[in-house]
Amino acid sequence: MHRPYNFSAGPAMLPEPVLQQAAAEMLDWHGSGMSVMEMSHRGKEFIHICAQAESDLRELLAVPANYRILFMQGGGLAENAIVPMNLSRGGAVDFVVTGSWSQKSAKEAQRYCDARVAASGQAEGRFHGIPDPASWAVRSDAAYVHVCSNETIHGVEFHTLPDLAALGHSAPLVIDCSSHILSRAIDWSRVGLAFAGAQKNIGPAGVTIVIAREDLIGHAMAVCPSAFDYRNVADNQSMYNTPPTYGIYIAGLVFQWIKVQGGVPEMERRALEKSGLLYDYLDGNGGFYRNPIDPAARSRMNVPFVLADESLNEAFLRGAGEAGLLQLKGHKSVGGMRASIYNAMPLEGVQALVSFMQDFARRHG
Ligand code: PMP
Repeated sequence: MHRPYNFSAGPAMLPEPVLQQAAAEMLDWHGSGMSVMEMSHRGKEFIHICAQAESDLRELLAVPANYRILFMQGGGLAENAIVPMNLSRGGAVDFVVTGSWSQKSAKEAQRYCDARVAASGQAEGRFHGIPDPASWAVRSDAAYVHVCSNETIHGVEFHTLPDLAALGHSAPLVIDCSSHILSRAIDWSRVGLAFAGAQKNIGPAGVTIVIAREDLIGHAMAVCPSAFDYRNVADNQSMYNTPPTYGIYIAGLVFQWIKVQGGVPEMERRALEKSGLLYDYLDGNGGFYRNPIDPAARSRMNVPFVLADESLNEAFLRGAGEAGLLQLKGHKSVGGMRASIYNAMPLEGVQALVSFMQDFARRHG
């Protein structure tokens, strides 16, 4: 069977060997006679699966010993409430808004704390890049500073995380890394807490990863649901309540796949190669297609682009679909196209996309 290339922003493609292994193990995991879906989360089989996934993730991202890895539920949007409920103590929290997701985070946090925008990457009504960290108006009493380190809709990525301490701020940095986790290393000396929904680079929707420095855990507001209190989740090895067991299992298979491929450095090398191919074409095609983002902040995972003649959009999407290139329509808030090229997208998929784009431009240019 030839599977099409799926450029969805998420849920997104998974590595084919992972899907094959999951299929092979569906009815009987390792001689247990059970599908992983049927296992008790308290049984020795699932406890092993979960512990292995956690230790592989810790190894892949070089997570220091004083950070806890939590497998939660609720997705990135729930974390927009869960993080302030756990870290803000109802006080000041500063947000740097570089696209729709950080904007949503700031809005949601207002319900729980004194959330303010410290800097915005919006100019002329559009998000194009990242404001210089030296210009961020971070308050001295901010409990944390929130950034979305890869804006999935706008295609804006932090290629260097800000060093808040060097800028004179005592607040820890919180990153929403949902759409580029495991595509590059994380500099933990600059990050207090990272969270990510799984459905782009990790596995099926439903699992939410939180990686939090130990000292930031244990300060939840009274209003925080006990299942979302990081202290409860950490003290119970992510099993305070029933975790998303099957999703954790698939995530674990993806972690093992990444290790076999060569780890995060190899994922980064591939991301540079794939995104470089696409951006080079977008910049050099003579204006038929265009990416509007500051080259210093262009995402390696989500590449939005527009056709100079928008009346060709439908024909472009139809032709792409016929060529086996799926889900290229841009988010409705920005229009145009978007190619999401996460870890599981092979180089051949991006090559096929560029070939199709060249051919389409020749036929309609
Ligand atoms: N943050 C980012 C960066 C995202 O891309 C998304 C989903 N596209 C979310 C948060 C929200 O995730 P969820 O739908 O899992 O709540």
